[in-house]
Amino acid sequence: MVVAVDGTSGSGKSSTCRGVATRLGLRYLDTGAMFRAMTWWMLEHGVEVHDADAVAARCDEPVIESGTDPAAPTITVDGVDVAAAIRTDAVTGSVSPVSTVPAVRARLLRLQREIIAADVEPAGIVVEGRDIGSVVVPDAPVKLYLTADASARASRRAAEQGAADLAATERLLLSRDAIDSGRATAPLVMADGAVHLDTTGHTLDEVIELVVGMVDRVGT
Ligand code: C5P
Repeated sequence: MVVAVDGTSGSGKSSTCRGVATRLGLRYLDTGAMFRAMTWWMLEHGVEVHDADAVAARCDEPVIESGTDPAAPTITVDGVDVAAAIRTDAVTGSVSPVSTVPAVRARLLRLQREIIAADVEPAGIVVEGRDIGSVVVPDAPVKLYLTADASARASRRAAEQGAADLAATERLLLSRDAIDSGRATAPLVMADGAVHLDTTGHTLDEVIELVVGMVDRVGT
């Protein structure tokens, strides 16, 4: 079973995916964390993140490892725990340009497919990102596309991060969406066969319940 979940920034993907994976006893992969880890490494090594050639030249270097336990997902780069470091404004502000670079996407696509296909228990996995249903696992039996109103997304993000400036949080979300949707390689799109869920008026528990129901109907 692969559950592929795509959608805009702050639409509730992470909380939904972790909740669904926990309920169903599946693994969980946050591909956004992998792009953030790549971006963190570029910033640490002084690579100009808006220079696509410079990013491409070095994107095979970082060793990025993702732990897939939904109760405690982990992410390391060259053995360093970067779970907190990848959520800083510096990384959030640079991750979308880094993610447009085709060589970055090709490298992380290979890593993502290795994790998804790994010969481990449980085999099933919930994967979240921007191109999971369209590129990474186009034959996933369950595909979702999550959205929410921009103001609801900004309030959730600000609450998570303790950010006070709602308008600035909303501007940053919308600018990431624009870059993610407009890029040439693997843009954010609703994949063929995906079910669109607008989470604006729903609680997290309601959304998890809905998705668990969809997976149950397909059969794990
Ligand atoms: O999900 P999250 O907001 O942490 O993702 C950070 C960024 O990583 C996104 O804005 C996008 O630029 C990039 N990303 C991507 N493809 C994915 C997952 C994330 O391009 N599958």
